[in-house]
Amino acid sequence: MFMYSIEKLASDEQHSRWLEPTKHFNMIGCYAQTELGHGSNVAGLETTATWDPKTDEFVLHTPNIKAAKFWPGDMGHFCSHAIVFARLRSKGKDYGVQPFMVQIRDLNNWEPMPGVELGDVGAKYGYHSKENGFMVMNQVRIPRNDMLNRFTNLDKDGEFEVIGDLRIIYGVMMLIRLQIVCGGPMYLAGALKIGVRYAVCRRQFKTMHGSKQERKLMDYQSHMVKFAPYLAKAYAMYANTSYVKDLFTEMMKRISQDDFSLMDVMHHILSGFKVTFSDWTHLGIDCVRQNCGGAG
Ligand SMILES: Cc1cc2nc3c(=O)[nH]c(=O)nc-3n(C[C@H](O)[C@H](O)[C@H](O)COP(=O)(O)OP(=O)(O)OC[C@H]3O[C@@H](n4cnc5c(N)ncnc54)[C@H](O)[C@@H]3O)c2cc1C
Repeated sequence: MFMYSIEKLASDEQHSRWLEPTKHFNMIGCYAQTELGHGSNVAGLETTATWDPKTDEFVLHTPNIKAAKFWPGDMGHFCSHAIVFARLRSKGKDYGVQPFMVQIRDLNNWEPMPGVELGDVGAKYGYHSKENGFMVMNQVRIPRNDMLNRFTNLDKDGEFEVIGDLRIIYGVMMLIRLQIVCGGPMYLAGALKIGVRYAVCRRQFKTMHGSKQERKLMDYQSHMVKFAPYLAKAYAMYANTSYVKDLFTEMMKRISQDDFSLMDVMHHILSGFKVTFSDWTHLGIDCVRQNCGGAG
């Protein structure tokens, strides 16, 4: 998300400063949008980025505890930088939520930068490969030119300008939805691989007529009837993800030519698939788990 946001939302001048260090892990970044008080309702975010005309800087601030950034992946321990979504304020006007590049840790000692408080949100039920953090900012200053300004900008007089179509910001958020859609079949297939292998190796009860061997778990109809629908769903999801990936690539290509015509249909497909696929995935994984006996 960090790299993708730079690629899509930052200007050419910002690309020249941030892309190479990011590719070589000299800048390790996170995508800091969600706050304790607001997740789905992005327009309700409360973190502020107020332009200071005296120094030509933005002052990033967490006005209350609800505005603390909460959940960003890798923020708690691993990141040096964050793309922070905050309300742009200039000359008393609010220009809505915009993205800003903020250095959050000192590259020499990895301590939080002055005015930045960081932490880990704590243990989660799953997804342990990712730590999720929180951040509170107290009057953190960044140069005016560190607002990601390919599509919106604040000029040296503090005037806000829209350079392109603001829907591009939503296009970046759609990427995560696409990743969740594509991740579903991968995780479900992984669980099924374990469960099916277990079921064709493990035997319980001598119930096969004329045989002294015990019956494989998979040869019980009750077992098959639980696994088969999820196997079919995993294949169906895989088949659809390649279609959705191609459509997303085509949408982003067209957007780069200022054509947003695919965005509407893409939004509906991704929203529907995200819910359906993640539902099938978590139910399927739990079904496999429950049907591996104590090993599950
Ligand atoms: C593992 C993990 C990683 C994350 N990584 C990041 C990250 O890197 N960066 C980042 O910025 N954020 C991240 N997030 C935050 C994530 O984007 C938010 O959790 C998400 O946007 C939902 O916001 P919320 O948790 O505040 O839920 P809320 O907005 O409070 O919603 C709670 C529930 O209310 C219901 N609801 C809400 N609005 C409506 C509505 N309009 N209609 C009907 N029902 C509704 C839904 O059931 C929803 O699930 C992460 C979250 C998790 C769990």
